[in-house]
Amino acid sequence: MAKKSTKDRKRLLTNLDQVNAELEHLRTMMQGEVDVELDEGDTEIVEREKTAALIVVLERRQRDIEHALRVIDLGQYGVCERCGAQIPPARLEVKPDATLCLDCQREIEAINRRGRITRAASSRW
Ligand SMILES: [Zn+2]
Repeated sequence: MAKKSTKDRKRLLTNLDQVNAELEHLRTMMQGEVDVELDEGDTEIVEREKTAALIVVLERRQRDIEHALRVIDLGQYGVCERCGAQIPPARLEVKPDATLCLDCQREIEAINRRGRITRAASSRW
């Protein structure tokens, strides 16, 4: 059990590193573009909005991974936080930051979808 969670932690930390690197890159891009005169037309603004949306998605993923790391510390990793069911290892393989079983995840996504106007960004992950 302890060995397994070490492996899971390592994988999550690797994922977190990737997300952090991507975020840093995108934020640098956003900062760079602020200095540019905004007379280059709409594409500039569209690109900025796309980058901003991606940053939001990555920030959420960052929170999910950090949360999953805390769950590992509590020894609760691999157990659904909502219903207490075991999360199938195959699901954790695909989404190591998952702290909900697929059924609960779907239910929560359905609830969120009803309350959200744009979900284009969230469907990317
Ligand atoms: Zn569940």
